Amino acid sequence: MPHSSIRQGYATLPSSFYTRTQPTPVARPELIALNMPLAAELGLDAAWLAGPQGLAMLAGNQIPQGMDPLATVYAGHQFGHFSPQLGDGRALLLGEVEDRNGHMREIALKGSGPTAYSRSGDGRAALGPVLREYLLSESMAALGIPTTRALAAVTTGERVYRETPLPGAIVARVARSHIRVGTFQFFAARQDTQGLRALADFAIARLYPQAAQDAQPYVALLQAVVAAQAALVAQWMLVGFIHGVMNTDNMAISGETIDYGPCAFMDTYNPATVFSFIDKRGRYAYTNQPTIALWNLTRFAEALLPLLAEEDGQAISLAQQALEAFHLHFHAAYFAGMRAKLGLVGDDEGDETLFKTLLDHMEAEKMDMTNTFRALSHEEALRGPGLPAGLPASTSPWLARWRARVAQQGSADYAARASAMQQVNPCYIPRNHKVEAMIQAAVKQHDYAPFREMLSVLATPYVEQPGMEGYTAPPTPDEVVPYTYC
Ligand code: AMP
Ligand code: MG
Ligand code: MG
Repeated sequence: MPHSSIRQGYATLPSSFYTRTQPTPVARPELIALNMPLAAELGLDAAWLAGPQGLAMLAGNQIPQGMDPLATVYAGHQFGHFSPQLGDGRALLLGEVEDRNGHMREIALKGSGPTAYSRSGDGRAALGPVLREYLLSESMAALGIPTTRALAAVTTGERVYRETPLPGAIVARVARSHIRVGTFQFFAARQDTQGLRALADFAIARLYPQAAQDAQPYVALLQAVVAAQAALVAQWMLVGFIHGVMNTDNMAISGETIDYGPCAFMDTYNPATVFSFIDKRGRYAYTNQPTIALWNLTRFAEALLPLLAEEDGQAISLAQQALEAFHLHFHAAYFAGMRAKLGLVGDDEGDETLFKTLLDHMEAEKMDMTNTFRALSHEEALRGPGLPAGLPASTSPWLARWRARVAQQGSADYAARASAMQQVNPCYIPRNHKVEAMIQAAVKQHDYAPFREMLSVLATPYVEQPGMEGYTAPPTPDEVVPYTYC
Protein backbone atom coordinates (compact mmCIF):
# COMPACT_ATOMS: atom_id res chain seq x y z
CA MET A 1 0.00 0.00 0.00
CA PRO A 2 1.44 3.35 -0.96
CA HIS A 3 -0.42 5.25 1.78
CA SER A 4 -2.46 4.26 4.80
CA SER A 5 -5.47 6.37 3.98
CA ILE A 6 -6.06 6.63 0.26
CA ARG A 7 -9.65 7.36 -0.57
CA GLN A 8 -11.73 8.62 -3.46
CA GLY A 9 -13.58 11.71 -2.31
CA TYR A 10 -14.98 12.46 -5.75
CA ALA A 11 -16.91 9.17 -5.64
CA THR A 12 -19.07 10.62 -2.84
CA LEU A 13 -20.59 12.93 -5.47
CA PRO A 14 -23.58 11.77 -7.56
CA SER A 15 -22.80 9.19 -10.25
CA SER A 16 -23.54 11.77 -12.96
CA PHE A 17 -20.17 13.37 -12.08
CA TYR A 18 -17.93 10.58 -13.35
CA THR A 19 -17.58 7.20 -14.97
CA ARG A 20 -15.66 4.52 -13.11
CA THR A 21 -12.92 3.37 -15.48
CA GLN A 22 -9.90 1.14 -15.10
CA PRO A 23 -6.71 2.26 -16.80
CA THR A 24 -5.74 0.21 -19.85
CA PRO A 25 -2.61 -1.83 -19.03
CA VAL A 26 0.53 -1.11 -21.02
CA ALA A 27 3.13 -3.45 -22.48
CA ARG A 28 6.48 -2.57 -20.90
CA PRO A 29 6.38 0.24 -18.40
CA GLU A 30 9.64 1.88 -17.41
CA LEU A 31 10.12 4.59 -14.85
CA ILE A 32 11.58 7.85 -16.14
CA ALA A 33 11.18 10.03 -13.09
CA LEU A 34 9.85 9.76 -9.58
CA ASN A 35 9.40 12.90 -7.52
CA MET A 36 10.67 11.83 -4.11
CA PRO A 37 10.25 15.19 -2.32
CA LEU A 38 6.63 15.34 -3.51
CA ALA A 39 6.05 11.72 -2.49
CA ALA A 40 7.31 12.62 0.98
CA GLU A 41 5.07 15.70 1.10
CA LEU A 42 2.12 13.46 0.28
CA GLY A 43 3.12 10.88 2.89
CA LEU A 44 3.47 8.16 0.24
CA ASP A 45 5.58 5.11 0.96
CA ALA A 46 8.72 5.88 -1.06
CA ALA A 47 10.02 2.30 -1.13
CA TRP A 48 6.65 0.98 -2.31
CA LEU A 49 6.40 3.67 -4.99
CA ALA A 50 9.92 2.99 -6.27
CA GLY A 51 9.26 -0.77 -6.37
CA PRO A 52 7.41 -2.98 -8.88
CA GLN A 53 3.97 -2.26 -7.41
CA GLY A 54 4.61 1.46 -7.58
CA LEU A 55 5.59 1.20 -11.23
CA ALA A 56 2.49 -0.93 -11.92
CA MET A 57 0.30 1.78 -10.40
CA LEU A 58 2.03 4.64 -12.23
CA ALA A 59 1.62 2.77 -15.53
CA GLY A 60 -2.02 1.96 -14.81
CA ASN A 61 -1.29 -1.78 -14.84
CA GLN A 62 -2.37 -2.50 -11.29
CA ILE A 63 -4.34 -0.18 -9.07
CA PRO A 64 -3.85 -0.54 -5.31
CA GLN A 65 -6.68 -1.01 -2.85
CA GLY A 66 -8.33 2.19 -1.72
CA MET A 67 -7.99 3.77 -5.13
CA ASP A 68 -11.13 3.95 -7.22
CA PRO A 69 -10.19 5.19 -10.70
CA LEU A 70 -12.73 7.40 -12.39
CA ALA A 71 -12.97 9.76 -15.32
CA THR A 72 -14.66 13.02 -14.41
CA VAL A 73 -17.08 14.78 -16.71
CA TYR A 74 -16.91 18.46 -17.57
CA ALA A 75 -17.88 20.88 -20.31
CA GLY A 76 -15.97 23.89 -21.54
CA HIS A 77 -15.50 26.82 -23.83
CA GLN A 78 -12.69 25.91 -26.20
CA PHE A 79 -11.37 28.97 -28.04
CA GLY A 80 -14.68 30.65 -27.21
CA HIS A 81 -16.94 27.83 -28.44
CA PHE A 82 -18.98 25.89 -25.95
CA SER A 83 -18.81 22.09 -25.83
CA PRO A 84 -21.50 20.78 -23.48
CA GLN A 85 -19.52 17.60 -22.81
CA LEU A 86 -15.80 17.07 -22.67
CA GLY A 87 -14.44 15.21 -19.63
CA ASP A 88 -11.28 13.26 -18.84
CA GLY A 89 -10.55 11.71 -22.22
CA ARG A 90 -7.14 10.42 -21.27
CA ALA A 91 -6.88 11.05 -17.56
CA LEU A 92 -8.15 9.16 -14.53
CA LEU A 93 -8.53 10.32 -10.97
CA LEU A 94 -7.10 7.50 -8.84
CA GLY A 95 -7.81 8.82 -5.38
CA GLU A 96 -6.61 11.29 -2.81
CA VAL A 97 -4.39 11.45 0.25
CA GLU A 98 -3.96 13.95 3.04
CA ASP A 99 -0.61 15.71 2.71
CA ARG A 100 1.71 16.89 5.46
CA ASN A 101 -0.10 20.22 5.65
CA GLY A 102 -3.46 18.58 6.18
CA HIS A 103 -4.65 19.30 2.63
CA MET A 104 -6.29 16.65 0.49
CA ARG A 105 -4.32 16.09 -2.71
CA GLU A 106 -5.68 14.18 -5.68
CA ILE A 107 -3.53 11.78 -7.67
CA ALA A 108 -4.39 11.31 -11.33
CA LEU A 109 -2.86 9.55 -14.31
CA LYS A 110 -2.73 11.30 -17.67
CA GLY A 111 -2.27 9.10 -20.73
CA SER A 112 -3.71 5.96 -19.08
CA GLY A 113 -6.07 4.88 -21.84
CA PRO A 114 -9.51 5.65 -23.24
CA THR A 115 -12.52 6.63 -21.17
CA ALA A 116 -16.18 7.31 -21.85
CA TYR A 117 -15.10 10.87 -22.71
CA SER A 118 -12.32 10.13 -25.20
CA ARG A 119 -14.41 10.96 -28.27
CA SER A 120 -12.05 10.25 -31.19
CA GLY A 121 -8.91 10.39 -29.04
CA ASP A 122 -6.77 7.39 -28.12
CA GLY A 123 -6.61 8.16 -24.41
CA ARG A 124 -2.84 8.23 -24.56
CA ALA A 125 -0.03 10.76 -24.21
CA ALA A 126 3.27 11.01 -26.05
CA LEU A 127 6.61 11.15 -24.28
CA GLY A 128 7.46 14.72 -25.33
CA PRO A 129 4.36 16.38 -23.84
CA VAL A 130 4.70 14.24 -20.70
CA LEU A 131 8.25 15.46 -20.19
CA ARG A 132 7.17 19.05 -20.87
CA GLU A 133 4.37 18.80 -18.31
CA TYR A 134 6.67 17.23 -15.72
CA LEU A 135 9.41 19.81 -16.17
CA LEU A 136 7.23 22.91 -16.48
CA SER A 137 4.91 22.06 -13.61
CA GLU A 138 7.86 21.32 -11.31
CA SER A 139 9.57 24.50 -12.47
CA MET A 140 6.40 26.46 -11.74
CA ALA A 141 6.23 24.98 -8.23
CA ALA A 142 9.88 25.87 -7.62
CA LEU A 143 9.16 29.42 -8.76
CA GLY A 144 6.52 29.52 -6.02
CA ILE A 145 3.50 29.69 -8.34
CA PRO A 146 0.41 27.56 -7.59
CA THR A 147 0.33 24.55 -9.88
CA THR A 148 -0.49 20.91 -10.27
CA ARG A 149 2.59 18.79 -9.59
CA ALA A 150 4.24 15.86 -11.31
CA LEU A 151 4.66 12.79 -9.10
CA ALA A 152 6.12 10.51 -11.77
CA ALA A 153 6.54 9.84 -15.45
CA VAL A 154 6.75 6.43 -17.10
CA THR A 155 7.15 5.24 -20.66
CA THR A 156 4.65 2.60 -21.74
CA GLY A 157 6.68 0.58 -24.25
CA GLU A 158 3.89 1.31 -26.73
CA ARG A 159 3.62 3.74 -29.61
CA VAL A 160 1.11 6.52 -29.92
CA TYR A 161 0.22 7.88 -33.34
CA ARG A 162 0.12 11.62 -33.81
CA GLU A 163 1.51 12.91 -37.12
CA THR A 164 4.14 10.18 -36.71
CA PRO A 165 4.51 7.25 -34.33
CA LEU A 166 5.88 8.42 -30.99
CA PRO A 167 6.83 6.70 -27.74
CA GLY A 168 3.92 6.62 -25.31
CA ALA A 169 4.17 7.84 -21.73
CA ILE A 170 2.04 8.53 -18.67
CA VAL A 171 2.40 11.34 -16.16
CA ALA A 172 1.07 11.08 -12.61
CA ARG A 173 -0.36 14.46 -11.72
CA VAL A 174 -1.16 15.77 -8.26
CA ALA A 175 -3.61 18.60 -7.59
CA ARG A 176 -5.53 20.00 -4.66
CA SER A 177 -8.50 19.60 -6.98
CA HIS A 178 -9.10 18.84 -10.63
CA ILE A 179 -12.47 20.66 -10.63
CA ARG A 180 -12.54 23.13 -13.49
CA VAL A 181 -14.74 26.06 -14.48
CA GLY A 182 -15.97 23.60 -17.13
CA THR A 183 -17.14 21.16 -14.45
CA PHE A 184 -19.61 23.80 -13.24
CA GLN A 185 -20.58 24.58 -16.83
CA PHE A 186 -21.46 20.93 -17.43
CA PHE A 187 -24.17 20.91 -14.74
CA ALA A 188 -25.36 24.43 -15.52
CA ALA A 189 -25.80 23.60 -19.22
CA ARG A 190 -27.92 20.57 -18.30
CA GLN A 191 -29.96 22.70 -15.87
CA ASP A 192 -29.03 20.18 -13.21
CA THR A 193 -29.27 22.48 -10.19
CA GLN A 194 -28.95 19.58 -7.74
CA GLY A 195 -25.69 18.56 -9.40
CA LEU A 196 -24.50 22.15 -9.44
CA ARG A 197 -25.24 22.51 -5.74
CA ALA A 198 -23.46 19.25 -4.89
CA LEU A 199 -20.42 20.41 -6.86
CA ALA A 200 -20.36 23.88 -5.30
CA ASP A 201 -20.74 22.44 -1.80
CA PHE A 202 -17.96 19.94 -2.47
CA ALA A 203 -15.68 22.68 -3.84
CA ILE A 204 -16.38 24.91 -0.85
CA ALA A 205 -15.74 22.13 1.66
CA ARG A 206 -12.57 21.06 -0.11
CA LEU A 207 -11.01 24.32 -1.24
CA TYR A 208 -12.70 27.34 0.32
CA PRO A 209 -14.14 26.21 3.67
CA GLN A 210 -14.37 29.80 4.91
CA ALA A 211 -17.06 30.43 2.24
CA ALA A 212 -19.36 28.08 4.13
CA GLN A 213 -19.40 30.57 7.03
CA ASP A 214 -20.51 33.41 4.74
CA ALA A 215 -24.14 34.57 4.65
CA GLN A 216 -24.03 33.83 0.89
CA PRO A 217 -21.67 30.89 0.46
CA TYR A 218 -21.94 30.74 -3.35
CA VAL A 219 -21.11 34.43 -3.72
CA ALA A 220 -18.19 33.81 -1.38
CA LEU A 221 -17.08 30.87 -3.54
CA LEU A 222 -17.12 33.08 -6.63
CA GLN A 223 -15.21 35.82 -4.82
CA ALA A 224 -12.58 33.36 -3.65
CA VAL A 225 -12.11 31.84 -7.11
CA VAL A 226 -11.87 35.30 -8.71
CA ALA A 227 -9.19 36.30 -6.19
CA ALA A 228 -7.25 33.05 -6.66
CA GLN A 229 -7.26 33.28 -10.46
CA ALA A 230 -6.35 36.97 -10.47
CA ALA A 231 -3.37 36.21 -8.24
CA LEU A 232 -2.36 33.24 -10.38
CA VAL A 233 -2.45 35.06 -13.70
CA ALA A 234 -0.50 37.98 -12.16
CA GLN A 235 2.21 35.47 -11.19
CA TRP A 236 2.29 34.09 -14.73
CA MET A 237 2.65 37.60 -16.16
CA LEU A 238 5.54 38.36 -13.80
CA VAL A 239 7.60 35.41 -15.04
CA GLY A 240 6.54 35.53 -18.70
CA PHE A 241 4.54 32.30 -18.68
CA ILE A 242 2.08 31.69 -21.48
CA HIS A 243 -0.42 28.94 -20.71
CA GLY A 244 -1.41 28.48 -24.32
CA VAL A 245 -4.90 26.95 -23.96
CA MET A 246 -6.86 28.93 -21.40
CA ASN A 247 -10.12 27.18 -22.25
CA THR A 248 -12.63 27.07 -19.39
CA ASP A 249 -11.99 23.33 -19.03
CA ASN A 250 -8.34 24.12 -18.38
CA MET A 251 -8.98 26.54 -15.52
CA ALA A 252 -8.97 24.90 -12.10
CA ILE A 253 -11.12 26.60 -9.50
CA SER A 254 -8.41 25.87 -6.91
CA GLY A 255 -6.24 28.54 -8.56
CA GLU A 256 -3.57 26.01 -9.55
CA THR A 257 -2.00 26.16 -13.00
CA ILE A 258 -3.39 23.12 -14.79
CA ASP A 259 -3.07 21.35 -18.15
CA TYR A 260 0.41 21.98 -19.44
CA GLY A 261 -0.12 21.71 -23.19
CA PRO A 262 1.45 24.06 -25.71
CA CYS A 263 2.68 26.33 -22.93
CA ALA A 264 6.04 28.09 -22.70
CA PHE A 265 7.95 30.92 -21.08
CA MET A 266 8.89 33.80 -23.33
CA ASP A 267 12.50 34.84 -23.82
CA THR A 268 12.32 38.22 -25.62
CA TYR A 269 9.68 40.40 -24.02
CA ASN A 270 6.83 40.72 -26.50
CA PRO A 271 3.23 41.06 -25.27
CA ALA A 272 1.87 39.44 -28.45
CA THR A 273 3.80 36.20 -27.90
CA VAL A 274 1.91 32.99 -28.71
CA PHE A 275 3.54 29.56 -28.77
CA SER A 276 0.57 27.31 -29.46
CA PHE A 277 0.52 26.23 -33.08
CA ILE A 278 -3.28 26.09 -33.10
CA ASP A 279 -3.80 29.57 -31.60
CA LYS A 280 -3.67 31.34 -34.96
CA ARG A 281 -5.48 34.46 -33.80
CA GLY A 282 -3.55 34.90 -30.58
CA ARG A 283 -6.59 34.54 -28.33
CA TYR A 284 -4.30 33.20 -25.61
CA ALA A 285 -1.31 35.49 -26.26
CA TYR A 286 0.72 36.62 -23.23
CA THR A 287 -0.91 40.01 -22.93
CA ASN A 288 -4.46 38.64 -23.28
CA GLN A 289 -4.22 36.29 -20.31
CA PRO A 290 -5.80 38.56 -17.66
CA THR A 291 -8.69 39.42 -20.00
CA ILE A 292 -9.24 35.76 -20.82
CA ALA A 293 -9.11 34.81 -17.15
CA LEU A 294 -11.90 37.30 -16.47
CA TRP A 295 -13.85 36.01 -19.48
CA ASN A 296 -13.59 32.48 -18.06
CA LEU A 297 -14.58 33.67 -14.59
CA THR A 298 -17.63 35.35 -16.09
CA ARG A 299 -18.60 31.95 -17.52
CA PHE A 300 -18.07 30.55 -14.00
CA ALA A 301 -20.37 33.19 -12.52
CA GLU A 302 -22.99 32.41 -15.18
CA ALA A 303 -22.81 28.73 -14.30
CA LEU A 304 -23.38 29.61 -10.63
CA LEU A 305 -26.42 31.80 -11.40
CA PRO A 306 -29.09 29.25 -10.41
CA LEU A 307 -27.43 28.95 -6.99
CA LEU A 308 -26.85 32.69 -6.65
CA ALA A 309 -30.51 33.34 -7.49
CA GLU A 310 -31.49 31.27 -4.45
CA GLU A 311 -29.20 33.09 -2.02
CA ASP A 312 -31.00 36.42 -1.72
CA GLY A 313 -31.83 39.53 -3.71
CA GLN A 314 -28.30 40.85 -3.26
CA ALA A 315 -26.49 37.80 -4.56
CA ILE A 316 -26.50 38.61 -8.25
CA SER A 317 -25.27 42.16 -7.83
CA LEU A 318 -22.63 40.86 -5.41
CA ALA A 319 -21.58 38.38 -8.08
CA GLN A 320 -21.22 41.22 -10.56
CA GLN A 321 -19.12 43.09 -8.06
CA ALA A 322 -17.00 39.99 -7.54
CA LEU A 323 -16.20 39.95 -11.27
CA GLU A 324 -15.49 43.67 -11.26
CA ALA A 325 -13.06 43.07 -8.40
CA PHE A 326 -10.91 40.91 -10.69
CA HIS A 327 -9.05 43.98 -11.93
CA LEU A 328 -8.38 45.17 -8.38
CA HIS A 329 -7.04 41.77 -7.33
CA PHE A 330 -5.01 41.39 -10.51
CA HIS A 331 -3.45 44.85 -10.30
CA ALA A 332 -2.75 44.52 -6.60
CA ALA A 333 -0.89 41.24 -7.17
CA TYR A 334 0.81 42.36 -10.36
CA PHE A 335 2.01 45.73 -9.03
CA ALA A 336 3.15 44.23 -5.74
CA GLY A 337 5.07 41.67 -7.79
CA MET A 338 6.59 44.34 -10.03
CA ARG A 339 7.64 46.42 -7.03
CA ALA A 340 9.35 43.39 -5.55
CA LYS A 341 11.03 42.59 -8.88
CA LEU A 342 12.37 46.14 -9.07
CA GLY A 343 13.37 46.31 -5.41
CA LEU A 344 10.93 49.12 -4.64
CA VAL A 345 9.64 49.73 -1.14
CA GLY A 346 6.31 51.43 -0.46
CA ASP A 347 4.38 52.84 -3.37
CA ASP A 348 4.56 55.94 -5.44
CA GLU A 349 2.13 57.28 -8.01
CA GLY A 350 4.85 57.20 -10.65
CA ASP A 351 5.39 53.45 -10.24
CA GLU A 352 2.99 52.31 -12.95
CA THR A 353 4.72 54.57 -15.48
CA LEU A 354 8.08 53.28 -14.29
CA PHE A 355 6.96 49.68 -14.93
CA LYS A 356 5.39 50.52 -18.26
CA THR A 357 8.46 52.38 -19.51
CA LEU A 358 10.73 49.44 -18.68
CA LEU A 359 8.40 47.02 -20.46
CA ASP A 360 8.25 49.36 -23.46
CA HIS A 361 12.05 49.37 -23.60
CA MET A 362 12.14 45.60 -23.31
CA GLU A 363 9.68 45.27 -26.19
CA ALA A 364 11.28 47.90 -28.44
CA GLU A 365 14.84 46.67 -27.88
CA LYS A 366 13.85 42.97 -27.96
CA MET A 367 15.33 42.37 -24.53
CA ASP A 368 15.21 39.07 -22.69
CA MET A 369 12.60 39.40 -19.94
CA THR A 370 14.15 37.04 -17.37
CA ASN A 371 17.71 38.24 -17.84
CA THR A 372 16.71 41.91 -17.70
CA PHE A 373 15.11 41.58 -14.27
CA ARG A 374 17.97 39.43 -13.04
CA ALA A 375 20.53 41.97 -14.28
CA LEU A 376 18.80 44.64 -12.21
CA SER A 377 18.97 42.43 -9.10
CA HIS A 378 22.52 43.40 -8.13
CA GLU A 379 23.91 45.93 -5.74
CA GLU A 380 25.91 47.67 -8.50
CA ALA A 381 22.80 47.91 -10.68
CA LEU A 382 20.86 49.50 -7.83
CA ARG A 383 23.68 51.98 -7.11
CA GLY A 384 24.63 52.83 -10.65
CA PRO A 385 25.77 54.72 -12.50
CA GLY A 386 26.83 52.02 -15.01
CA LEU A 387 24.68 49.94 -17.35
CA PRO A 388 23.77 46.53 -15.93
CA ALA A 389 24.79 43.58 -18.13
CA GLY A 390 22.70 43.23 -21.26
CA LEU A 391 20.84 46.53 -20.94
CA PRO A 392 21.11 48.84 -23.95
CA ALA A 393 22.30 52.43 -23.54
CA SER A 394 18.81 53.68 -24.39
CA THR A 395 17.67 52.52 -20.94
CA SER A 396 19.94 55.05 -19.17
CA PRO A 397 17.23 57.65 -18.49
CA TRP A 398 14.95 54.92 -17.18
CA LEU A 399 17.76 53.56 -14.97
CA ALA A 400 18.29 57.02 -13.49
CA ARG A 401 14.58 57.30 -12.65
CA TRP A 402 14.52 53.80 -11.21
CA ARG A 403 17.58 54.46 -9.02
CA ALA A 404 16.06 57.68 -7.74
CA ARG A 405 12.89 55.78 -6.87
CA VAL A 406 14.93 53.03 -5.15
CA ALA A 407 16.71 55.66 -3.07
CA GLN A 408 13.49 57.44 -2.18
CA GLN A 409 12.14 54.70 0.15
CA GLY A 410 13.56 51.65 1.85
CA SER A 411 16.83 50.71 3.46
CA ALA A 412 20.25 51.93 2.35
CA ASP A 413 21.47 48.34 2.60
CA TYR A 414 21.52 47.77 -1.17
CA ALA A 415 23.16 44.37 -0.83
CA ALA A 416 20.14 43.16 1.14
CA ARG A 417 17.75 44.74 -1.35
CA ALA A 418 19.55 43.13 -4.28
CA SER A 419 19.40 39.77 -2.58
CA ALA A 420 15.65 40.20 -1.95
CA MET A 421 15.24 40.95 -5.67
CA GLN A 422 17.08 37.75 -6.48
CA GLN A 423 14.42 35.84 -4.51
CA VAL A 424 11.75 36.99 -6.98
CA ASN A 425 13.65 37.37 -10.26
CA PRO A 426 14.57 33.87 -11.38
CA CYS A 427 17.88 33.13 -12.93
CA TYR A 428 16.47 30.00 -14.58
CA ILE A 429 13.21 29.47 -16.40
CA PRO A 430 12.46 26.49 -18.67
CA ARG A 431 13.45 28.18 -21.90
CA ASN A 432 11.50 26.72 -24.77
CA HIS A 433 14.48 25.86 -26.96
CA LYS A 434 16.08 24.00 -24.06
CA VAL A 435 12.81 22.18 -23.35
CA GLU A 436 12.58 21.19 -27.01
CA ALA A 437 16.21 19.98 -27.09
CA MET A 438 15.59 18.00 -23.89
CA ILE A 439 12.53 16.36 -25.51
CA GLN A 440 14.43 15.54 -28.71
CA ALA A 441 17.25 13.89 -26.73
CA ALA A 442 14.73 11.72 -24.85
CA VAL A 443 12.57 10.80 -27.84
CA LYS A 444 15.31 10.28 -30.44
CA GLN A 445 18.26 9.09 -28.36
CA HIS A 446 16.57 7.72 -25.22
CA ASP A 447 18.83 10.17 -23.46
CA TYR A 448 17.25 11.48 -20.27
CA ALA A 449 20.35 13.25 -18.99
CA PRO A 450 19.18 16.66 -20.32
CA PHE A 451 15.78 16.14 -18.64
CA ARG A 452 17.42 15.31 -15.30
CA GLU A 453 19.91 18.13 -15.46
CA MET A 454 17.27 20.68 -16.40
CA LEU A 455 14.92 19.46 -13.67
CA SER A 456 17.68 19.83 -11.11
CA VAL A 457 18.68 23.34 -12.29
CA LEU A 458 15.05 24.50 -12.29
CA ALA A 459 14.47 23.13 -8.79
CA THR A 460 16.32 26.18 -7.36
CA PRO A 461 15.57 28.82 -9.97
CA TYR A 462 16.64 31.77 -7.85
CA VAL A 463 20.12 30.45 -7.08
CA GLU A 464 22.95 30.86 -9.58
CA GLN A 465 24.53 27.48 -10.22
CA PRO A 466 28.10 27.22 -11.48
CA GLY A 467 28.44 25.63 -14.90
CA MET A 468 24.75 26.09 -15.72
CA GLU A 469 25.08 29.33 -17.69
CA GLY A 470 23.71 27.54 -20.76
CA TYR A 471 20.29 27.64 -19.13
CA THR A 472 20.32 31.43 -18.85
CA ALA A 473 21.16 32.13 -22.48
CA PRO A 474 18.31 33.17 -24.76
CA PRO A 475 18.11 31.17 -27.98
CA THR A 476 20.25 32.25 -30.91
CA PRO A 477 18.11 33.06 -34.00
CA ASP A 478 18.48 29.53 -35.35
CA GLU A 479 17.70 27.99 -31.94
CA VAL A 480 14.35 29.78 -31.55
CA VAL A 481 11.44 27.34 -31.22
CA PRO A 482 8.44 29.48 -32.14
CA TYR A 483 5.74 26.80 -31.79
CA THR A 484 4.82 24.31 -29.16
CA TYR A 485 2.45 21.42 -29.83
CA CYS A 486 0.42 19.49 -27.30
P1 AMP B 1 -6.95 19.83 -23.72
O1 AMP B 1 -6.82 20.63 -24.97
O2 AMP B 1 -5.71 19.11 -23.29
O3 AMP B 1 -7.53 20.60 -22.61
O4 AMP B 1 -7.99 18.65 -24.05
C1 AMP B 1 -9.31 18.92 -24.40
C2 AMP B 1 -10.16 17.66 -24.28
O5 AMP B 1 -9.67 16.65 -25.16
C3 AMP B 1 -10.18 17.03 -22.90
O6 AMP B 1 -11.47 16.54 -22.67
C4 AMP B 1 -9.16 15.92 -23.02
O7 AMP B 1 -9.39 14.88 -22.10
C5 AMP B 1 -9.38 15.46 -24.45
N1 AMP B 1 -8.19 14.83 -25.02
C6 AMP B 1 -7.00 15.43 -25.32
N2 AMP B 1 -6.16 14.53 -25.85
C7 AMP B 1 -6.79 13.34 -25.86
C8 AMP B 1 -6.44 12.01 -26.29
N3 AMP B 1 -5.25 11.73 -26.80
N4 AMP B 1 -7.37 11.05 -26.15
C9 AMP B 1 -8.57 11.30 -25.63
N5 AMP B 1 -8.97 12.51 -25.22
C10 AMP B 1 -8.09 13.52 -25.34
MG1 MG C 1 -7.59 20.02 -20.69
MG1 MG D 1 -4.13 19.04 -22.32
